[in-house]
Amino acid sequence: MNSVVCIAQVPDTEARIKIAAGGRRIDEAGLKFIVSPYDEFALEEAIRVKEAKGGDVTVISFGPDRAQQALRECLARGATQALHIKGEVADADSLGIAKVLAAAIKSTPHDLVFFGKQGVGTDNSLVGPMVAELLGYPQVNVVTHLEVGDGKATAHREIEGAEEIIEAALPAVITAQKGLNEPRYASLKGIMAAKKITIETKSVADLGLQDSDIFNQRVTTVAIELPPEKKGGRKIDGADPAAAAKEILKYIREEAKVL
Ligand SMILES: Cc1cc2nc3c(=O)[nH]c(=O)nc-3n(C[C@H](O)[C@H](O)[C@H](O)COP(=O)(O)OP(=O)(O)OC[C@H]3O[C@@H](n4cnc5c(N)ncnc54)[C@H](O)[C@@H]3O)c2cc1C
Repeated sequence: MNSVVCIAQVPDTEARIKIAAGGRRIDEAGLKFIVSPYDEFALEEAIRVKEAKGGDVTVISFGPDRAQQALRECLARGATQALHIKGEVADADSLGIAKVLAAAIKSTPHDLVFFGKQGVGTDNSLVGPMVAELLGYPQVNVVTHLEVGDGKATAHREIEGAEEIIEAALPAVITAQKGLNEPRYASLKGIMAAKKITIETKSVADLGLQDSDIFNQRVTTVAIELPPEKKGGRKIDGADPAAAAKEILKYIREEAKVL
């Protein structure tokens, strides 16, 4: 049972984001990048399928040189193969990324294709479903539990007030929700073993695609703006609770003008 896991490398969720000159991109200078957190659930599930049923787990990332670092981390956790599609992903829209990944997946043996439910930071939740459509595969999104049987997957999803259980024929696309599993850390043995695995690198052209297929920008980012700076809080002396309550009410009415 072979799995492919698509890995988005995203700015560290703790990072302080700065906007680059031009106002349409983030400034990558000094920025730490991590594996998108939902992709960690996707990877863990694929590794568990491999441990139960054998086969390979291939991680694929479309991005600049630094994407290799994310792939290496996935190999250390238990992926068996890695494919880096080199390209300026920040210039592509979600459909462009999906086309690249669909072409890469076609050339990789697979029964299951895993994604995070969203790439943290950009949060479009588009790439997994788009790849499923491009490949003509069934898809189950935001999955919290997965069982893999002969030629089919049974996936559980949380819906409003209930749990939905869905069967899909393989090959299928699964997007991972938090709670699907508890992702493992890389062990020292895993880190050492990962160093011996060669990360295969391909260009977009190697996949039979042209830049115009990917960077056609049906959707373009016109601006990125940081939220307004938060104003400092105000501390009200609470020695006399009744006086403090009056002061808070005065603030809510006269300054915040909420009431
Ligand atoms: C300056 C800058 C640098 C960026 N650098 C990167 C980068 O190095 N890598 C990157 O992935 N994105 C990068 N991005 C974000 C990128 O432009 C896309 O927005 C993002 O990859 C897809 O986000 P999404 O919200 O459309 O994905 P979603 O649809 O929310 O993603 C869902 C899932 O699709 C898969 N996926 C998404 N993108 C990729 C990918 N490129 N390769 C493999 N699987 C993927 C993952 O499994 C992810 O969990 C960058 C953005 C900026 C502004």
